[in-house]
Amino acid sequence: MDVSRRGFLKLSGLSIAAFATGLGFDPAVAEAKGYALKLEGSKKFPSICHFCAGGCGMLLYVKEGKLIHLEGDSDHPTNEGTLCPKGSSLLSVAYSPDRVTKPRRRAPGADHWEDISWEEALDRVAKKTKEVRDASWKVADEVVNAKTGVTETFPVNRTEGIAFLGSAEVDNEESYLISKFCRVIGTPYNEHQARI
Ligand code: SF4
Repeated sequence: MDVSRRGFLKLSGLSIAAFATGLGFDPAVAEAKGYALKLEGSKKFPSICHFCAGGCGMLLYVKEGKLIHLEGDSDHPTNEGTLCPKGSSLLSVAYSPDRVTKPRRRAPGADHWEDISWEEALDRVAKKTKEVRDASWKVADEVVNAKTGVTETFPVNRTEGIAFLGSAEVDNEESYLISKFCRVIGTPYNEHQARI
């Protein structure tokens, strides 16, 4: 009998299932038991995927302070239990060794990044923001009146040297705070990456 590679795998799977059932071993029951064992002793938390603005519902299982499993929330109206590959991979994102967990700085002319403290990072950002804001502050702007052709001057009081770029990972609360912050420091340039 000629059996293709795919056919061979199919036959093998069927044989194993038939053998297991013959021994009174139901793969579906074993899978359910394995699932229950894996989650035993964990606490379940409903949450929202932060990857995109889809806002899919998730269930997070935490054991001894560590996220051990996540899955789509079947009660959530947006995704009804499903997750796309990005949402499904969040467990590995949480514990990836490549995840940057400290502020980093690459000095002018340097070819590498170095870790810096949060204090240093915040101080630098605050100092640079102030410098740029002061240097780029505009009190008034001139506009040519389309009807009269006369150039008129209007007060604007804004910085033209600072802009904010949001991302699909920014949630409602963060967007609210960013908008407020933009108004406080006087920049009208608050954009979203999806519009670029
Ligand atoms: S699971 Fe996928 S579609 Fe849903 S919010 Fe996350 S990234 Fe977006």
